Amino acid sequence: KAKSSRAGYHVYTSADDSDFGTRLRTLHELRVAIKTDQLVLHYQPKLELKTGEVRSVEALVRWNHPCRGLLQPVDFLPLVEEAGLMHEMTHVLLAQALDQAAVWMLRRIRLSISVNLSPSSLLDAALPERIAAMLEARGLPASVLILEITEEYLMQDYDLARASLTRLRATGVRISVDDFGTGYSSLAYLRDLPIDELKLDRSFLTPMQDDPRAAALVASTIDLAHSLDLRMVAEGVETADALTELSLYGCDQAQGYFISRPVPAGELVTWLADRGA
Ligand code: C2E
Ligand code: CA
Ligand code: CA
Ligand code: CA
Repeated sequence: KAKSSRAGYHVYTSADDSDFGTRLRTLHELRVAIKTDQLVLHYQPKLELKTGEVRSVEALVRWNHPCRGLLQPVDFLPLVEEAGLMHEMTHVLLAQALDQAAVWMLRRIRLSISVNLSPSSLLDAALPERIAAMLEARGLPASVLILEITEEYLMQDYDLARASLTRLRATGVRISVDDFGTGYSSLAYLRDLPIDELKLDRSFLTPMQDDPRAAALVASTIDLAHSLDLRMVAEGVETADALTELSLYGCDQAQGYFISRPVPAGELVTWLADRGA
């Protein structure tokens, strides 16, 4: 049983030994996983609502665990963070995403890739140069990469976030504000941030379908984004009705299970081919 000390740390007693052992083992496995490409990206298409085309995808990490099967981010991202392995993971995944972009470019498949950045990877001062070098090494234009960062984080330390986003965007990559609408940011803040796109959090979509006021809120949020010259992406689109409504409101892109689940790169290419895209 863990008892909290006054400083808020846990004091472990012998009953923790097995837990502790499991944690150590998982940590070791995680280090190995990052080094041996067990962390793989799945890709979820973002549909252009005006043209019906797919021009970009979001990369979402999975852990292809040798015994436990395919693990979802919720199962291991907290541990990555806790173990201080986030910079390393981010680097490995950016390389993986850009390798994929290079393969697609060779095959004339025109897709840009959105990569999620954790707040801690944004603190990595070397990240902008690294990204520029990775793009250059593969002969890729910066326009293939979009970086997603949550609104909640931007609001936690606005000045710091603004400074790192400015450096990142100077490399030519685009910046997307993830989970938009959940972080209570104000209009003035957004206007002064170097960003290109907002991703409306999926919590807005469910109420939209049976509450006219919720629908009006989504519609005016889209207008607001446009008035700031930002593209609006809706995530978590699970129904045909939601998709129709979003098109009606002028939303730029939609992403969600109704269109496609996140899938391995090979499946994505088949999916695109089946749509005749
Ligand atoms: P997120 O960036 O908000 O990603 C969207 C999540 O919603 C993904 O969960 C996606 O699979 C899921 N999703 C997509 N369409 C639908 C839908 O129609 N309905 C519902 N209910 N869910 C949908 P996932 O892949 O489990 O990722 C969870 C979170 O983990 C992500 O949230 C992101 O914050 C984080 N994450 C994922 N991949 C990475 C990564 O490579 N790096 C970092 N730092 N974080 C990542
Ligand atoms: Ca995201
Ligand atoms: Ca999101
Ligand atoms: Ca999220």
